[in-house]
Amino acid sequence: MSTFTVERSLPNRISRLNDLAYNLWWSWHQNASWLFQHLDKTLWELTHHNPVKFLQQVSPAKLEAAAADPVFLRHYDGIMMAFDKCLEGKDSWFAQTYPDMAGRTIAYFSAEFGLHISLPIYSGGLGILAGDHCKEASDIGLPLVGVGFVYPQGYFKQSITSDGRQEPIYERFDYNAAPMECVISRETEGGLLDLHLNGNVIYAAVWRVRLGLVSLYLMDTDVEENEPWDRELSARLYGGDQETRIRQEMVLGIGGVRLLDRLGIRPAVFHANEGHAAFLMLERIRSMVQGGMSFSDAVEKVRSTTVFTTHTPVPAGHDAFPFHLVEKHFHNFWGSMGLDREQFLALGEYPDPHGGVNFNMTALALRLSGHRNGVSKLHGRVSRLMWHSMWPEQTVDEVPITHVTNGVHTPTWIAPEMDKLFAKYLGHDWLDKHDDPTLWTRIDEIPDAELWNIRVHLKSRLLNFMRERARRDWIAEGADSTQVLTAGTLLDPNALTIGFARRFATYKRAMLVLSNLVRLKNIMHDEWRPVQIVFAGKAHPADAPGRSLISEIYQLARDNDIGGRIAFVEDYDIHVAKYLVRGVDVWLNNPRPPLEASGTSGQKAALNGVPHLSILDGWWYEGYQGTNGWAIAPDIPEDADDDLRDQADRDELYRVLEEEVVPLYFERDSDGVPRGWVKLIKEAIRTAGPVFSARRMVKEYASRMYVEAMKNAR
Ligand SMILES: *Cc1c(COP(=O)(O)O)cnc(C)c1O
Repeated sequence: MSTFTVERSLPNRISRLNDLAYNLWWSWHQNASWLFQHLDKTLWELTHHNPVKFLQQVSPAKLEAAAADPVFLRHYDGIMMAFDKCLEGKDSWFAQTYPDMAGRTIAYFSAEFGLHISLPIYSGGLGILAGDHCKEASDIGLPLVGVGFVYPQGYFKQSITSDGRQEPIYERFDYNAAPMECVISRETEGGLLDLHLNGNVIYAAVWRVRLGLVSLYLMDTDVEENEPWDRELSARLYGGDQETRIRQEMVLGIGGVRLLDRLGIRPAVFHANEGHAAFLMLERIRSMVQGGMSFSDAVEKVRSTTVFTTHTPVPAGHDAFPFHLVEKHFHNFWGSMGLDREQFLALGEYPDPHGGVNFNMTALALRLSGHRNGVSKLHGRVSRLMWHSMWPEQTVDEVPITHVTNGVHTPTWIAPEMDKLFAKYLGHDWLDKHDDPTLWTRIDEIPDAELWNIRVHLKSRLLNFMRERARRDWIAEGADSTQVLTAGTLLDPNALTIGFARRFATYKRAMLVLSNLVRLKNIMHDEWRPVQIVFAGKAHPADAPGRSLISEIYQLARDNDIGGRIAFVEDYDIHVAKYLVRGVDVWLNNPRPPLEASGTSGQKAALNGVPHLSILDGWWYEGYQGTNGWAIAPDIPEDADDDLRDQADRDELYRVLEEEVVPLYFERDSDGVPRGWVKLIKEAIRTAGPVFSARRMVKEYASRMYVEAMKNAR
């Protein structure tokens, strides 16, 4: 750990580029990234769009030239004005809608945050959602601070060998080149954060990432003062055994609360994003009891000011610890909450699917939070059913778990070309009011050919990106010919291109579309109406079935019979996701229902005019309207077994492709524009744009949960 940030001295006139580099606000404002790009385009690419690293390396001559260039300066001044306006937060939606709530802070705890490739502190959907939530909070002026971890080895980078094995690569994170500042270290006043947890002391440094108005505080236990095993606690996201995991979660939940206290931040509301952070509720109760409150009053207080979001109906997705482990790490803790062993363990007690009982983090969070939600309409219902046993007196419908459907941060996910198009036809301020459905009715004013040309262009950008990666790997690692093939170098810009990118968990059924190869090959190799598929995604290193799915797909992709029509893009991350969700023609999702809680990649795609072809699960259960994409909905009983369902879904998927998707895509009029397809694209955009956005989502959290909880904090 280094405790200083390396700031470059810049010409006075443009010295605030440093502020911009250390605030990820730039990353969701296209014009702001233009400033860096314009200074030195090659270096901008070489530093992987990391402005901190970029400013450390850019040549003084280029900086001097920019400081004297009127065009650059005009842009610079415009950006800085917008940046300052954001930081003031004065005319924001929240300030105007809830003037009485000024000064009340929400603390948002999450084990991962997906913000930008320069910060490898996320693994997938949960992290991206947390990142989008924080960015949107800044955009609407919600007073929120984030709490999480910096993982010195991040989540892994994925490399795939020529025989299809996923190799995880853990790179050490370069603190000096990261867009974050140290706020607590051995050199700051008061020294490192010292967490007395069960008789031991764990030390943590704390870093701050700025996201517009919002600050995100990240704890890091990789400091010399710690024992080697404690240094490892924040080494990797979701690494280690159960013991590492419980200690990690103690640092996140308990340490996070103490961290805010140390910084002098007194949140009115705490939001636990997933059960990982649920120990925060115990720590709050403990500190209230220590302050003289009774246990039951403290519980009431905590409940009324805590929001908890559960994110998955997959049982294995809920952390549960054996009692002996909890006992080992909390036996000095429950006394200070005013509890004995039994009372304490009862807070998290929940049946284990394999028999016996465990200390379940979701059960704990459900008991100690008063505002609980799932992440889509269907997932809300599934969650009420799943946790019904905790409210045995209530009917399933009365179980107090509601839903707030996930959405995506529009400025982050919109392609620059689409942004310009919307600015032209929906109004230059379209982003300011993108959650207003009436805005989107004007989508019909966009000429079909203009929209279609952009779609074609975005596909060519994806294919170029894939070829460029293949070329780079070829040079750097001497990739063999099969790897160049599987990387997608033979993809055809005229073929209907299906995208399938997500974590390789078995319930997501990546193999479904590949499960009748004869039929699929017929579809793909049609001479006049060719189809191709691009896959991407990581499997958790400990997930053997997930890894073998990757090998299977990889083996197929290199098969001569497939002829390069299946490609696999390595190392799916935010950057790759941006190319994929903007660049393919159709976004495919075929989980085994109802296990996809929401899914958000399809929302990113729809926003960019890439319609969704999906099982009616997660967000699509409420998003599908008949004319804005396709549903894979075979007529089978709801309780059909897995084999029957897989078969029926597969056949229906092929049928929809053959009879609906492919014909519509290739039906062109005399000027080559697929009118019917463009009509469908417009419907996809019009229906997804206002509703499945983080703006709608965060406003909903605010008006239905945060504000109520803020009132309770008085
Ligand atoms: C959006 C996103 C996800 C989540 O997508 P799902 O549809 O929920 O699977 C995962 N990883 C990355 C990199 C993403 O951008």
